[in-house]
Amino acid sequence: MAFNYLRHTKKDGLTRREFMWLSSMAAAGYVFGCATDPVTGKKQLMLVSEDTEIQIDKQYSPVQISTDFGEVQDSRLNRYVSEVGNKMAQKSHRPHMPYTFRVVNATYVNAYAFPGGTIAATRGIMLSLENEAELAALLGHELGHVNARHSAEQMSKGQLTQAVVGGISALAGTQSAVLGDLAGQLGQVSAGALLAKYSRDNEREADALGMQYMVGAGYGSEGFIGLMEMLNSMSKHKSTTVDLLFATHPMSQERYDTAVQTANTKYKSALKGPLNRERYMDHTAGLRAQKGAIQEIQNGEKQMAQSKFDAAGDHFRKALKMAPNDYVALCMMSISNLVQKNYAVGRQYAEMAQQAYPEEAQAYHLSGFSKIQLKDFEGAYEEFSSYELRLPGNPNTIFFRGYCQEGMDNTKQAASEYRRYLQIVQEGKYAQHAYRRLVDWGYIK
Ligand SMILES: [Zn+2]
Repeated sequence: MAFNYLRHTKKDGLTRREFMWLSSMAAAGYVFGCATDPVTGKKQLMLVSEDTEIQIDKQYSPVQISTDFGEVQDSRLNRYVSEVGNKMAQKSHRPHMPYTFRVVNATYVNAYAFPGGTIAATRGIMLSLENEAELAALLGHELGHVNARHSAEQMSKGQLTQAVVGGISALAGTQSAVLGDLAGQLGQVSAGALLAKYSRDNEREADALGMQYMVGAGYGSEGFIGLMEMLNSMSKHKSTTVDLLFATHPMSQERYDTAVQTANTKYKSALKGPLNRERYMDHTAGLRAQKGAIQEIQNGEKQMAQSKFDAAGDHFRKALKMAPNDYVALCMMSISNLVQKNYAVGRQYAEMAQQAYPEEAQAYHLSGFSKIQLKDFEGAYEEFSSYELRLPGNPNTIFFRGYCQEGMDNTKQAASEYRRYLQIVQEGKYAQHAYRRLVDWGYIK
């Protein structure tokens, strides 16, 4: 049924945006066609194949996980979350997808799924849950998005366009979340740039599937009500800590009411099933011991969002008193100093962050950025190369490596990096800089 979609939509009228997107996808060699919705069994118009979903996941989820400061260095906790998630994934509508489940270090309250099945929950939301059934409800909801192919559906409608064809750094700062602007200043990817924004219909469907999956795995449906209760009360207190969660998963009284109704009718027999509160508390004991530090980091990020960097620094310092090796607190101390142009101090904290979590990429970016500002181009080049080893394919890294080469007067190498960068990103101040240099040096006439 290849190319049916084009004929079909032409009749209904194709918006310019959709047309542009289809053209760019056609140019990129993606195959169009119809697919069967794995959940409803109905034909759905789908421009994105399952292979493409997995490929997009592989390309973007590592960037998102690094933006969220990597997965927690608590293998017991990650194993536990994986076990709860996999129990449901095996009985989902797409059991063959390469699911993974993990907790990420970020302290804001959020959970998300990428289209190939990469699912993550932040430390912030893990602290807000009260039992394993609520965790299953949360992961079940995210599994619902993957199984109903909501990201792919959005891409087919022309949303998420830039994430697919525009490259990462074109997105930095365009959908500013808590730290979006700051991330943009530092040449990083902003927190919400790569996350799918679901519709209210998507949320309804993901909730229905989520409850089905968690009840199917033997949990009490009361856990789903508990999750909705928590989200509903959080959505009423506007806060930067939950902004991104509700911008991507819209919350409503209706979602809560539907959960209560469904749990009391369709899943009535499962209403009083196990919640496994003690098991949850046992496996999250290490996380809950960090609660004070995590709250200080959340408060610091609120101050950062209002550009109150001194007050933010006070909170991050308090967090480090309680948890001296907290990777997020160390990175945030670095960021709050870098945006205030205290580059030497910013570099020190970035190096401490590297020591606290050598496998994670973000601290190398912060360190490289600070070294550029301190005119240590050789040192900066090494940092960006270390970043590239840990997280390959971020176009920002290519630009910064070119910039370091330029600083070392290696024009030829700089030109080669800038050319690579311009093949991926054609807009923004970095692209302008790269283009201007290539003209200056006679590579573009
Ligand atoms: Zn959702």
